[in-house]
Amino acid sequence: MPDKKKFYQMDLNERLQVLREVSTLNEEELATFNQQGGLSAEQADLMIENVVGVYGLPLGIAQHFVINGRAVLVPMAVEEPSVVAAASYMAKLVQAGGGFTAKAKAQEMIGQLQVLNVKDIPAAQKALLSAKEEIMVLAAEADPMLVSLGGGPKDMEIRIIKDSLLGSFMVLHLIIDVRDAMGANAVNTTLERVSPLVEHITGGRVLLRIISNLADRRLAKAACTIPVETLAFEQYSGEDVRDRIIEAWAFAAADPYRAATHNKGIMNGVDAVVIASGNDWRAVEAGAHAYAARSGHYTSLSTWSVDEKGNLHGELEMPMAVGIVGGATRVHPTARAVLKLMGVQKASDLAEIIVSVGLAQNLGALRALATEGIQRGHMALHARQVAVAAGAPPEKVAALAEQLVKEGNIRMERAIAILNEWSEQ
Ligand code: NAD
Repeated sequence: MPDKKKFYQMDLNERLQVLREVSTLNEEELATFNQQGGLSAEQADLMIENVVGVYGLPLGIAQHFVINGRAVLVPMAVEEPSVVAAASYMAKLVQAGGGFTAKAKAQEMIGQLQVLNVKDIPAAQKALLSAKEEIMVLAAEADPMLVSLGGGPKDMEIRIIKDSLLGSFMVLHLIIDVRDAMGANAVNTTLERVSPLVEHITGGRVLLRIISNLADRRLAKAACTIPVETLAFEQYSGEDVRDRIIEAWAFAAADPYRAATHNKGIMNGVDAVVIASGNDWRAVEAGAHAYAARSGHYTSLSTWSVDEKGNLHGELEMPMAVGIVGGATRVHPTARAVLKLMGVQKASDLAEIIVSVGLAQNLGALRALATEGIQRGHMALHARQVAVAAGAPPEKVAALAEQLVKEGNIRMERAIAILNEWSEQ
């Protein structure tokens, strides 16, 4: 009997058939994956301004993810070749060590009020602290829904920014538990509600009332341990691969030029799931890089080490402001189907999946960079894009890509020339 086809060897319809069999998605939900990116121009017209259409991105499924003991199919929206393949492959290696453990901490966002023109900052600070309860009560009125779900305003902090171009000024932080929302609208509405009271108490002028994307009270952390023997391939022993990965990570830990690229690799995975789930990837990007620079020295978001058994251990902790209600998450039909496919019940479930994918992606990049280099795998996939761009019909794309790789000449002119040779045969 021939071997069962692997997911990556299947055609589009066969892959959808797998999803039909293994998930609870109905036909309408499955259809959101292959029709106009799941979003009609009419729906898009209700989402943003001046709409002229929709913009498609490939949606792939990363396989082999086991997160907190649960197998998850992870949809990833990304235009870059290799990302989905690398995530799946690394998730398979991690499975050998029991999968990912992940934990999203409190779903708390920070809202900022910039208070200017305060005559006596220490006195205003004292007055605000004594009026904390009044401020919190007013803040809670802004979003009764959030409060009824156990969320809403939780705390208040006052910061003094010294030595700014404006001299010293006050910033009031409202800490708001946003539950299953990303939270920007909820936070901003609350800030606007309390701002007149804050002006009254301080005698100052509130200028900005806006969420902070440095969501360092909403961290998500993933960890994985890969048995050292699993890392061996070709001429590389498991110990060799492990040590090379740690050496490569140490470069990113020490050098911002490397750390930026290292973290970009993490974001390859993170953003793809953030986008697929209809979340605000700029918010997650901003939070990630600000968090990476929190010590004043921009560094790696992940850490890699050897555990006591000699296995490779990786951890990734980063802010993860993602929701499963609000924003586009409920409006975009594909995002809804994506959340259902992942079996996500709470925003924290989604955050735990995303940070695990980020860690897998980081491992994939480090492993490739520290051994054979990324170009070998990447060029094969790149060749496919060149073949498509050269106008190869779908049935000839694979053969043309293979030929380009064989010749070591993955260029558009050569692809067109080969196509012409083939058509003359
Ligand atoms: P939202 O306001 O659309 O929805 C959140 C609301 O849903 C809550 O306020 C609550 O009333 C309600 N809700 C119902 N069930 C809930 C549950 N289980 N948990 C939590 N809330 C529940 O969305 P949002 O998340 O407040 O805002 C997200 C949007 O804000 C995104 O589109 C983002 O792009 C945008 N945005 C971002 C920024 C930024 O990141 N700097 C700034 C402005 C706007």
